Amino acid sequence: MDTAERVLAYGGGWLDRAGPLRTDPTHMDALLTEPSTVVLPMWRDRCLVDGDGPVRLTADRASLVRSAAGEIVFLGLDGDVAVFAADLSALPERSAAEMAGATRALDVRALVGRLEPGDAAVQAYARGLLHWHRQQRFCGTCGAPAVAGGGGHLRTCSGGECGRLLFPRIEPAIIVLVEAPRSPGRCLLARHAGAPEDAFSTLAGFVEVGESLEDAVRREMAEEAGVTVTDVTYQGSQAWPFPAGLMVGFRATATSDEVRVDGEELLEARWFTRDELRERVASGRSLGRVDAIDHRLLEDWLAGVS
Ligand SMILES: [Zn+2]
Repeated sequence: MDTAERVLAYGGGWLDRAGPLRTDPTHMDALLTEPSTVVLPMWRDRCLVDGDGPVRLTADRASLVRSAAGEIVFLGLDGDVAVFAADLSALPERSAAEMAGATRALDVRALVGRLEPGDAAVQAYARGLLHWHRQQRFCGTCGAPAVAGGGGHLRTCSGGECGRLLFPRIEPAIIVLVEAPRSPGRCLLARHAGAPEDAFSTLAGFVEVGESLEDAVRREMAEEAGVTVTDVTYQGSQAWPFPAGLMVGFRATATSDEVRVDGEELLEARWFTRDELRERVASGRSLGRVDAIDHRLLEDWLAGVS
């Protein structure tokens, strides 16, 4: 199975997003008040958790949370059961937790190792969508308030002459494992500004307006590390709604061994052989965040032979 087909953290959610249902507000309202409907409460980008993980509310508790929530968004269907997320960010943390029958609020990234991948994906999805609502209260064109609709998947400007539709934004970023041009096989890792002294990771950057993903790979590698790359090949993508990312993984090959870091975003960059990386792992140093696609890119490269 190739990288693109394997599920990364925050992928593989178990919901049918049921997009066509979002356009029927009457149906949305009916689903919201079904006794079996599940409500996932969130508080300021965090899951509300008890000893078993993020709470899932139904019936009376769900009704209570709905009445106090800011935005409520339709996430999709779990079989026949509708699943919504509700934003309790306007309350103090303790009040939000008590109302939800939870003990505290935790970021899904702090929970990811303990959650089923599909559950982590749904929590991340809820986090990203509710975050967008909190950041998109007004129309950027005319300044009038924007009103949520479409099951929480769009907002409409309430300005009479404007009426612009606003959709959740995704911010794509590329992340690249650069290989050396000649044997022995080596990959380029860098120490980023603000990272611990010995923390090396793959290179990454945001896609700019007017760029293809491949353009962004070539530009970022040149800007950050002074490396010209060819053979840019897609490896897979990862939802990264923290708050609105989409990570797109690539491999590329440098045209020379020469590396020149910019000294701002990157403090140091150098080539590592597979044996060096295996030694780092054996000595307890991690290969990037275990829930992130750079970890997967490095694992795949380590499993290679060239
Ligand atoms: Zn407007």
